[in-house]
Amino acid sequence: MSSVLSFEDARHTVETHARHIRPNRSERISLLEARGRVLAEGLYADRDFPPFPRAARDGYAVRSADLVRLPANLEVIAEIKAGTRPEDIPKLIQSGEATAIMTGAPAPPGADAVVMVEYTNRNLTRVEITRGVASGENVVPAGSEARQGDLLLPSGTFLDEAGIAVAASLGKTQIPVYSKSQVAIVSTGDEVVPVDAQPGPTQIRNSNSYSLAAQVQGAGAIPVLLPIAPDEPKRLREISEQGLQADLLLLAGGVSMGKYDLVEQVLHDLHAEFFFTGAQIQPGRPIVFGRTRDKYFFGLPGNPVSTMVTFELFVRPIIDALSGRSPHRLVFLRARLKSEVKTKTGLKRFLPAILSGEFEQAEVELAGWHGSGDVASTARANCYLVIPPDRERIPAGEWVPVLPRW
Ligand code: AMP
Ligand code: MG
Repeated sequence: MSSVLSFEDARHTVETHARHIRPNRSERISLLEARGRVLAEGLYADRDFPPFPRAARDGYAVRSADLVRLPANLEVIAEIKAGTRPEDIPKLIQSGEATAIMTGAPAPPGADAVVMVEYTNRNLTRVEITRGVASGENVVPAGSEARQGDLLLPSGTFLDEAGIAVAASLGKTQIPVYSKSQVAIVSTGDEVVPVDAQPGPTQIRNSNSYSLAAQVQGAGAIPVLLPIAPDEPKRLREISEQGLQADLLLLAGGVSMGKYDLVEQVLHDLHAEFFFTGAQIQPGRPIVFGRTRDKYFFGLPGNPVSTMVTFELFVRPIIDALSGRSPHRLVFLRARLKSEVKTKTGLKRFLPAILSGEFEQAEVELAGWHGSGDVASTARANCYLVIPPDRERIPAGEWVPVLPRW
């Protein structure tokens, strides 16, 4: 029943499952609420973009052929500002004529370019132009960005400010998005008490349910916090079954090799399929991924830093897919290592670290943690330094990959 994969194989396994997940529900919401949501229908152009040949600069709309000999002296027959009504635009610009024109205004028929105001001298009804333009310069042709009926954003697009600008350009105040998925969170352990209880001398407060809830929210889903499950199979099974009502079940703790690590056994009794029961990483080695009753679940290691790291590395693609979003890639930055790092080989490591400096000056150093339980040093960190499994020593000054945490 046990299968421990390399980091890459484990991640690949999750991504493969994610590709086959179909989000089911969708809803219409206000465009102002749509940031971070995922489009549930394609958005099509309701008109040409731009809808008219649009001046891209302030200046003069001209026939470029009139500017072969410089300086050219043209008659200014109108002024066209952005939003000028169609009836106020000259029907045709003849040779020897120009109009003043502002950015965002429609170029008049006959004009094929706009000369920037910087290259002109105005004198009452005439303008002297000191520099030539190519045909088309500073004019964005009608329909050049999109044609009426074109698909602008496919279903599945994650809506950031640019996607929202597209929807607004199409006149959408309400927008179809996939409903947020519900992610059940179960912390396990006899020593774990609710955050509002006074812990006894050998007890600890439940931080994992809250860090996971924050990560679930950050991934665009709704956390459903279930009661803390004791290290006792019957109650753990009941709470797990409750969690399987959600779209995804996250259990934290109880997946190591200890006598009271019962999560795998309980899921096995619920007829789970296991896709892996460990990954060669640190922190987070005992992570479990599987499916039962048509629902995916993760058994995340209970050490608080392991819980956070394994969520980022493995859980996100499944939440993305449940949300209708194509899974986004893990993005690594590179930074120069401030001081030498020594580790043992065999595991790919994601160690809490502090990234500072910008551009070519980006530097990273370990956050000086005291192991996978050290939430305080992890909270002071802003990234994870990634160390490949075959490296024993990385010298100061080497460019190393870091996984940002923001
Ligand atoms: P486990 O994975 O159950 O072996 O737990 C590993 C370590 O994480 C132990 O020291 C636990 O006390 C701690 N731990 C487990 N669950 C939680 C939790 N919900 N909040 C904070 N620490 C936890
Ligand atoms: Mg435990």
